Amino acid sequence: MSERIPLARPVVGEREEELVLEVLRSRRLSLGPRLEQFERAFASRLGVASASAVSSGTAALHLAVRVAGVGPGDEVVTTPFSFVASANCVVYEGARPVFCDIDPRTLNIDPAAAAAAVGERTVGLLPVHVFGYPADMRELERITAARSLWIVEDACEALGGRHADGPAIGARGHLAAFGFYANKQITTGEGGMVVCPSAADKVRVDSERNQGRAPDMSWLDHDRLGFNYRLSDIACALGVAQLERLDAMLAARARAAARYGEALQGVEGLELPCPDAGSDVRGWFVYVVQVPRDADRDRVIALLRERGIDSKPYLPAIHLMSFYRERFGHAEGEFPVCEDVARRSLALPFFPDITEGEVERVAEGLAAAVAAARTAGAPG
Ligand SMILES: *Cc1c(COP(=O)(O)O)cnc(C)c1O
Repeated sequence: MSERIPLARPVVGEREEELVLEVLRSRRLSLGPRLEQFERAFASRLGVASASAVSSGTAALHLAVRVAGVGPGDEVVTTPFSFVASANCVVYEGARPVFCDIDPRTLNIDPAAAAAAVGERTVGLLPVHVFGYPADMRELERITAARSLWIVEDACEALGGRHADGPAIGARGHLAAFGFYANKQITTGEGGMVVCPSAADKVRVDSERNQGRAPDMSWLDHDRLGFNYRLSDIACALGVAQLERLDAMLAARARAAARYGEALQGVEGLELPCPDAGSDVRGWFVYVVQVPRDADRDRVIALLRERGIDSKPYLPAIHLMSFYRERFGHAEGEFPVCEDVARRSLALPFFPDITEGEVERVAEGLAAAVAAARTAGAPG
């Protein structure tokens, strides 16, 4: 019996061990020198002035929308095809995420649908660069400029991506959030980063991640409401080591994606991730295919599991989750493109050191599973 192939597996080596050990031995486990080092390395990698490390991508999104400005009764236009955190962060502040449909090619928010969803109460747009593919920011920026709305970018899946007009994803001058959970392009175990284009915004984020403490770190004066969204120095050391190998890991992910592309070519009716258009560059995060409409996706998952291959439905539509149905009254049929994609999408094992043999095993397994899961014998 061959080894199980997991969905994700981080690359962690001697350099990570060395830097983490150094922190442990220094006895400075939080708010030490690695925090600033990680922030500076991340900012310079992206080409932005500064960044603030926090405890998760969700925390990064939460602090970013607070700085952008959102409160009870406000609306934020966003995509229903995302990890739930991009909508939750709006709900945390008592505001309403207003969903709109997605582009069937990139699976990112459809700018025309976003424009149509903007209303009297809209304060901002929250696009997600889903699966690392750059959202159409030029079009979204046209919408926000005309209405003086803010943009917060959820770049949690998109480190390493780049827009056709030049900037790295997250470096267009908007607030942006990154995440470092174990399956992301770089990991700190748990962690995140807020990119703040303005220095004043960074001061506020740094304070709010630390219980609202005054910037001079005096113990007693908490001049605003804050949270404990700090990232430990242990995690920051991991982040520093991971950034050093980011280019190699991105290249390895891109190679794995290219292998999948070739290996899956023959599977009839299977839709593969869209190739980069123009000069857009995807920062490869996951490898998600869409099974043919006449195949039962969950049956495919079960058949792959029998072969020792992990896969999962990715992503489910946010508006159809029980909490969102109940709280905001959503139902099937509102966003047909998103719902169709969410029904058929399947994440395959994908990580930098996945071997050629593993990719082939997945491809063979998937071809067989899709053939077997087609509603064969059904009428018509
Ligand atoms: C990973 C991710 C996040 C952040 O997740 P955390 O687990 O909080 O780090 C946010 N949005 C999207 C789209 C993500 O994929």
